[in-house]
Amino acid sequence: MSKIVKNGESWMKAEMHAHCSLDPEDYKLCRHSPEQLISEAADLGYAILSITCHNEDVWSLDLAEFAESKGVVLIPGMEVDVEGRYHVLTYNFHTGSENLNTFDKIRSLSNEDTLVIAPHAYFPGITCLRSRLERNLDVFDAIERSGFYVRGLDFNRSACNIAAKHDKPIIGNGDVHMLWQLGKTFTWIYTKPGIAETLKAIKRGLVRVESNPLPWGQAVQWWATAFWRVASWYDLQHRPLRSGA
Ligand SMILES: [Zn+2]
Ligand SMILES: [Zn+2]
Repeated sequence: MSKIVKNGESWMKAEMHAHCSLDPEDYKLCRHSPEQLISEAADLGYAILSITCHNEDVWSLDLAEFAESKGVVLIPGMEVDVEGRYHVLTYNFHTGSENLNTFDKIRSLSNEDTLVIAPHAYFPGITCLRSRLERNLDVFDAIERSGFYVRGLDFNRSACNIAAKHDKPIIGNGDVHMLWQLGKTFTWIYTKPGIAETLKAIKRGLVRVESNPLPWGQAVQWWATAFWRVASWYDLQHRPLRSGA
């Protein structure tokens, strides 16, 4: 997309859902450090990135300055477990996940500088919101189109229908756990560089999704790795089986 700049605004390439080696849950799966993730994103032309680890915001001033040196705006964010299991992406709340682990807590702390996205809402798996998305629609500023799909097998349709029905912006996210996932599905956001500016632009719907299915080979690689992760959790922690990304 051409970079049409007007009043300091331009179309900026964004990834709003990515994990890294600091993730308390997915650290076994994510080999890349936050710095490696930022560098790879910068090399691929991203100008906006949020590292959304499970229940932990790894954003820091040092990381943000490192990202800025690469031309990337780093957005504070995390993927919280709500009501014990349902994944919700929260941005710029600057508080612990324990203060965002119910829909009502998110409602009470949301303000004009925060953002909430429903990720992979209708994918198979007990972490996916499904009907809770529409029942709590006021909580969500935008709905994710997940990059986890292959030609002929795409669980995004219901989420996109809900977004259209309720006039919510759709954000394309890679849900990046491995660096090769960058660049397949992402979002162009028309904004000035800046955290608050980016979140406001999303809320105003100044977004365009670019999305390409994963090649079957890469999808199978991902599913095999994810299965290993689930199995290892079950063996090592004796927790209930969890799926989802
Ligand atoms: Zn998830
Ligand atoms: Zn995720």
